[in-house]
Amino acid sequence: MPAEWIWRNGEFVNWADATVHVSAHALHYGSSVFEGIRAYATPHGPAVFRLQPHTRRLLNGAKVMRIDQPYTEDQINEAILETIRRNGHDACYIRPIIFRGEGALGLEGRGRTKVEAVIFTMEWGRYLGEEAIESGVDVQVSSWQRMAPNTHAAMVKAGGNYVNSQFISMEAHDNGFTEGIALDVNGYVSEGAGENIFVIIDNIVYTPGAWSSILLGVTRDAVIRIIEDLGYEIRYQPVAREMLYMADEVFFTGTAAEVSPVRSIDRIQIGAGRRGPITQRIQEEFFALSSGQKPDRHGWLTFVNKS
Ligand code: PMP
Repeated sequence: MPAEWIWRNGEFVNWADATVHVSAHALHYGSSVFEGIRAYATPHGPAVFRLQPHTRRLLNGAKVMRIDQPYTEDQINEAILETIRRNGHDACYIRPIIFRGEGALGLEGRGRTKVEAVIFTMEWGRYLGEEAIESGVDVQVSSWQRMAPNTHAAMVKAGGNYVNSQFISMEAHDNGFTEGIALDVNGYVSEGAGENIFVIIDNIVYTPGAWSSILLGVTRDAVIRIIEDLGYEIRYQPVAREMLYMADEVFFTGTAAEVSPVRSIDRIQIGAGRRGPITQRIQEEFFALSSGQKPDRHGWLTFVNKS
């Protein structure tokens, strides 16, 4: 459900009025950077999960894309909190986006296009379906690979990168799967269309790194710390495709997908074909920390309403 108020270039406008012109540079060339952030309901009101790393990734992305924008990290953070307050959300999904708007149609948009910054919110449940969190999802390895290094900037959450993610996701849906996993340019496992991936074999947790053209997910980072807290060994290394099929457990992480178990890949059952015990422990910890049920020992929550 969309919210009433949208923050746009420092002002609040109505959802219906937050439109852009058809000549907007980003619409033609993907020249935008954006974030997906969640605010969770906690006993002390709504709290944004890991606000700072999201805002930092957004502004770093703008820097790499040479999108000159006037806001500081603190100003974006405050605008996000104010947008949640104005809309009265208990919990929500937050979408900040900075993009090249109208002004010029050539590829070189610097200095010629109007840079816009927008923050909107909406209520959004479980991305991969309500059941997915407990039962796990059926996925495929995509025929589409992730971008090679030094082509797109995989670590930047740029609009243009999501052409690749759409191919992966649409192919999976057409084949009857919930999600697709992309391999990197060398044939090693990279990530889901909109999620990072973790593979557990003999109690060791494997996850690919930046060399496999992944987006360095904020949830991935949180889950890595949870895995360390729980005392499991984690290895960052190239993950061979066959490790997926041999795994005892596989799960996805992402702001939208949260921690979602994978129960089959290419119709091959993973482990017992349902959420595995380590995935469950990680998931329980993730939800307890993000919803303020457990003390915020890592400082991951930013409370929306100041007490
Ligand atoms: N990879 C891709 C391609 C994504 O779109 C996302 C979602 N932002 C992720 C990974 C997970 O990142 P995060 O945990 O920061 O949401």
